[in-house]
Amino acid sequence: MNGVYLPMIVLYALLGLGVGAWLNVCADQLPRWRRLRRAPFCPYCDQPRPWWAWISTLAYLRFRPGCPYCGASISWRHPLTELGTAGLFAFLWARYGTEDWRFLVLYTVYASILVLVLIIDLEHRLILNVVIYPAWLLALAGSFLHPKPYFYRLALVGGAVGFGLLFLIYLGGELFIRIVSRMRGKPLHAVAFGFGDVRLGGFIGLILGFPAVLTALLITVLTGGLFGSVYWLVRAVILRRYSLFTAIPYGPFLVLGAMVVMFWGR
Ligand SMILES: [Zn+2]
Repeated sequence: MNGVYLPMIVLYALLGLGVGAWLNVCADQLPRWRRLRRAPFCPYCDQPRPWWAWISTLAYLRFRPGCPYCGASISWRHPLTELGTAGLFAFLWARYGTEDWRFLVLYTVYASILVLVLIIDLEHRLILNVVIYPAWLLALAGSFLHPKPYFYRLALVGGAVGFGLLFLIYLGGELFIRIVSRMRGKPLHAVAFGFGDVRLGGFIGLILGFPAVLTALLITVLTGGLFGSVYWLVRAVILRRYSLFTAIPYGPFLVLGAMVVMFWGR
């Protein structure tokens, strides 16, 4: 790598740190209110955070991650998200900064959305409409910026395929639960595959286009299946908590599949 680019990578990583702080605000407030209502605040005592703690990494660096009012510490998710996003941005600049600015812009926006989806899904098992519908619109608009000519057609087909395939899996899961419930004579309370995952599949199809969306879904199914098997084995063999049916949250694996194809697919 050329030394000239290093300052740009550092600058872009700093931008990522700021974006990460904003994603934290979204992840704190959107699941609760479905919109942004306030500047960063302490979830324990409701007091506003001092400005120097808005980027929690700085608060941690100053060894003052505690709330000045109630003393509660800023959760480790905040600096982790900021540093993770900064690292992601650094990688994006190193990969696309000198190649094509359009890829850099598009993938920066998409990767940020995927990070937000990942955090909220991990913490709440939710994929929010207030995140995913604007994401669809952004992806649709972005498809016209894509360097490949007429990419918006591939994006539309990809979105339909991603949504459609996951909708089929969703229906299959519902059917499966219904059949098992009938066989056991009592209802099985499990969500095999949420409808938020279906909408996320639509977003991934829009950003990757057809046929790349298929690769992403394949990676999702393989990694999700592998994780599910290991998880089931650990529970059954080590913890001796044997259950025939274990629901795997697929959202994180959808994000993983999308990121892998986005960064290394071409
Ligand atoms: Zn507090």
